[in-house]
This record gives sequence, structure tokens and C-alpha cells, in this order.
Amino acid sequence: MYQPVIGLEIHVELKTKTKMFCGCLNDPDEKHPNINVCPICLAHPGTLPTINKKAVEAVLKLGLALNSQIPEVSKFDRKNYFYPDLPKGYQISQYDQPLVLEGELNNIRLRRIHLEEDTASLIHGEKGESLVDFNRAGIPLMELVTEPVIKSGEQAVEFAKELQLILRYLEISDADMERGQMRIEANISVSKNSELGTKVEVKNLNSFRSVKEAIDYEIKRQEQALEKGGKIKHETRGWDENGRKTEHQRAKEEAHDYRYFPEPDLPPMDFSKSDFVDFKELEISIPELPAQKRERFIKEFSLKSEQAEILIEDKNLAQYFEDSVSELLTEIPGNDKNKNIQLLFNYLASDIKGMANEAGITMKDLKITPENFADLVTLIIKGEISSRLAKDILKEMNSTGLDPRQIIKEKGLSQISDEEVIQKAIKEAVEENPVAAGDYKKGKQNALQFLIGQTMKKLKGQANPGILRKLFEDYLSR
Ligand code: ADP
Ligand code: ZN
Ligand code: MG
Repeated sequence: MYQPVIGLEIHVELKTKTKMFCGCLNDPDEKHPNINVCPICLAHPGTLPTINKKAVEAVLKLGLALNSQIPEVSKFDRKNYFYPDLPKGYQISQYDQPLVLEGELNNIRLRRIHLEEDTASLIHGEKGESLVDFNRAGIPLMELVTEPVIKSGEQAVEFAKELQLILRYLEISDADMERGQMRIEANISVSKNSELGTKVEVKNLNSFRSVKEAIDYEIKRQEQALEKGGKIKHETRGWDENGRKTEHQRAKEEAHDYRYFPEPDLPPMDFSKSDFVDFKELEISIPELPAQKRERFIKEFSLKSEQAEILIEDKNLAQYFEDSVSELLTEIPGNDKNKNIQLLFNYLASDIKGMANEAGITMKDLKITPENFADLVTLIIKGEISSRLAKDILKEMNSTGLDPRQIIKEKGLSQISDEEVIQKAIKEAVEENPVAAGDYKKGKQNALQFLIGQTMKKLKGQANPGILRKLFEDYLSR
């Protein structure tokens, strides 16, 4: 049996205000080409780079979050190659003294994380022409490299997803794969013994799904080639998304092909001497990470792990949940804590989240505050409003930002608790549905549910559900 081994190289565009070595805006949304450019990122002769401290701090912050080592000294190097998307003819990168060494994520050992600059974007036209947009040239690009210890495509995807989440929690990148903010390359080999086999590097992976499929495909391809007595070529292959296969791109280049040497225009960064970076501040700026939050949510709020996952996936949603739960628990302390939290969760995961999605905004920008949301859930739990009325009130809260009591008052939505009114509707419903009424008397609980529904309809969903139910049971047991 062949054992597959995978190592990942993941590039991430950092969400800094400005570019890596000049003052140009780092704006991934800029549609007009060649707007965010200057003599430095266009490589005019005589210009000099300066280090963007925020980008350095972002990488160090990630290193701290992943329990990595931060070497005392780190430096930039020139990686030389010729391509039209690289105006200087070299990329400023890091070779033998990266910012971050080792560390771990999801039980996968990391080798290093370094900082470099992104290239320009090439746009290939229909008539065979190629255009260059330098807006992206010089955007801070981080590269994380794992050790070759991953065992499957699935494990690789889990790793990459967790990294994406952490990058978002740390607010150092949106790490959106579709937008090219996170780019994954997979190195894959198979072997029958403890020695590593010859690896193949696979590029062109534009989604998590492609990462998994490409790795699975490549493992099979290599196994079959070796079974037939063939050899694995050390090469770079590309994932063909339509054909669902990898295909040869080029022979793998070696480090010496790049003629790396220390960047003479930038001083090495000595973290021991200078006050270049305040590590205490950095530590403080690291929020609770997804793994801890996941575990805490399950324990503290008795959530199922799938429920916790829905919240964890979006830091703002998780925060919203916690804020509204804490409000709810001050309004309704007591025994039904977990039941009440479940009710709140359900409204949050479906209605509230849906409203934010529909509006294309984050939970932070939602007009419904966690306090007002908790108030609404409180009203439902106390039986002061029905779930049907709750939905209408939520809609109103979403457009006005008002609290639920205000809306109930202003819209005259107040619940019908008037027993006489309810009694009358019950009487009508029973008369219109004699079969159901008979079924209930024979002991069928469904029939009661049906009749309550019919009555609620007559009252436009505004009857106090507690009172309605009680009166119904009284009425039918007469
Ligand atoms: P290169 O010098 O060819 O770029 P590196 O040693 O720098 O290779 O490793 C690059 C990536 O490839 C790392 O993620 C590493 O874990 C992975 N890797 C190295 N050797 C193997 C192998 N035999 N099989 C699978 N992955 C490997
Ligand atoms: Zn510039
Ligand atoms: Mg390498």
C-alpha cells in the first residue's frame, strides 16, 4: 500500500491600508486598472522600498496565534525571475530568514511563514494581446508552508479552512479564495516505505473543492504510475477544473534558479534591539481563536457541535449570539436556560442571519441590536407574542432599528389577550371543523394543534398563544 504525503504552500494577500514597500493604496476592489501605482511599485530606476510595518505585524500576529517561533532577526531577499507581471525583474521575498518558523495548526506542523510582495495581474485578451494591471503589484503577500505531514485531500481542506477562519478572526485578510486572496498549492507524493517519494506540485486550485479533488486525483495517478513500474517526475502540474485532472505545466524550478540574495535596499529587521514591533501589544490584539470559541460555546451554552460551527464560522455572528444570550439571561434567569438559548439560536441562525445575508451586510451593520433581539425572544418566551407575530415584528425591527415593544405599540400589533375575543374565535373554529373536534375528544393531539392553528388564523396570528391554548383545552373538555 502506498502512503500519500502532502505539504501545502498557501499565499495570502494581507488586508493592509497600503502596499508592502510603497504608500500606494492596497485596494482589492479597485476596478480601474493602474490607479494605485507609483514609481516604486512600477520599478522606476532609482526608487527605494520601505517596509510596511503593519504587514510585518500581521504575519507576526499569525505566528503568535499558531504558537510559532519568531526569530530575533529576519530579512528580505530578492527572488529573481523574468515575467511581465514582475516589473523589477525580481520579487522581494524572504529566503533563509523568514519572519516566522515552526508552529502548528490542526495538529499539522508548520515550517515557516514569510512575507513577500504580490505580482501585477495579467489580463489576456481575445485577440491574443496581454494587458498588465499594476494595482495588485506590491500588495503584501504572506506565504505559509507546512511540513509534509498531511495524509489526505480532506485533511488538507480542513487545514486550509481553519487557517482561513483564523486569518479572518485576526483580521489580517479576508482570505477569499474566489477573489484570489488565498491561493493554495499542494505538494503531493506517495511512498511504500518511510522515505518520502518524489513530489509533484499542483497549482491552479481556486476553491476548497478543487484542492480536495486535485489531491485525490494526484494520489491515484501517482499510485497507478508506480504500480505500472513508472517513475514520478518532479514537476509542476495544473488542476484542470473542467477536465477534473492535473496536467503537466513545467519542470520544477530549484531554489538556485532564482539566484536569491539579500535585498540590499532594506535593512534586516532585528526584533531584539529595536522597538520596531511591540510584541506585548500584538499579543493583546489576538482575540479568542475559533478552536477555543468552538469548545467554549458547546460547553457554556450546551450547543450541538453543528450549531456551534454555524456561529464560529462568522466571528461577528458569534459575538452577536453571545451578546444577545447574555441579555436574554439577565431578562429571564432560571431553569429553562438551555431551552431559551436554543430558541434564541433558532431565530438567530435562520431569521436574523437570513436578513443580514439578504442585505449583503455583516452582523455588525444589522439594525437589529443584540439587545433588541433578546427583548423579542423574551416576549416570545413569556408568551406575550406568538411566533407568527414575532416574524412580523422582526421584519419591522430590521427596517427601522426600533425595539420590539415600541413597534408593538406604534403598529397596534399588540396581542389579543382578551378572552372574550379568543373564546368567540374558538367557537367558530370548532363549529367549522366538527370532525377535528371529534378527533380531539377521542384523544388525538394533532387535532388540537390543527384547531389552534385555525383559530390563530382567524385572529391574524395575534392571539396570545398561552391563553389560546388554555381556553381551547377548557372549551373542548366541557
Ligand atoms: P521546494 O524546495 O521544491 O519548494 P520544499 O522543501 O521547499 O520544496 O517544500 C515545499 C513544500 O513541499 C512544503 O509544503 C513541503 O512540506 C512539501 N514537501 C516537501 N517534500 C515533499 C514530499 N516528498 N512529498 C510531499 N510534500 C513535500
Ligand atoms: Zn506604489
Ligand atoms: Mg519551496
